[in-house]
Amino acid sequence: MTPRLQNIASHRIVLRLIEHKLRTPLIVYHTDLSPAYLRELYKEMHGESPKAGRVPEAQNILSSRMRVIEASLLMNLYLRYADREGARRAIQIEPLVDAYDAYLQIRAGMADKNLLDINEAWVLARQYRSEELSASRCAPCAAVFFTVPDQKVETNCPACGVQAGAGGAADEPEGETSWTDVHGQVVLAF
Ligand SMILES: [Zn+2]
Repeated sequence: MTPRLQNIASHRIVLRLIEHKLRTPLIVYHTDLSPAYLRELYKEMHGESPKAGRVPEAQNILSSRMRVIEASLLMNLYLRYADREGARRAIQIEPLVDAYDAYLQIRAGMADKNLLDINEAWVLARQYRSEELSASRCAPCAAVFFTVPDQKVETNCPACGVQAGAGGAADEPEGETSWTDVHGQVVLAF
């Protein structure tokens, strides 16, 4: 790509990030655009100024079994779009926003408190880069899920409840949707 085309492409990504309401300082981190300019763009797009506030902590994102499922779905998508080794060196912002769009499509119409926002997705990608977020594959049900040290919920497989690394048979919870029904194609692609 020529520098001019590269510039247009990176502007497109910035617009997508603002559309999803990624915090201004996080966009600044990935671009050479000024915070004032980004805030203006945000205001034009959303009709209000961007909210200030702290970036969430990974431990607070992975706050329940359902949230671990959401985070794992998002991260499996991210690592499908991103160069996996590169994702350990840097947050890959374009694959991240692609993954976030795919995540919203899978979760279309779901107005749920468990739904991840783009800032939470960014934090997960950052923790993956710093190797604080680690992936485990559950032997019995093949779910690939993500955990951080000191998280508030158990680090068992969120799909079947088996402890990470255990190879025993899964106790399949009755009457619950299994991970592979909902996430099979994503999990298996990891
Ligand atoms: Zn499992």
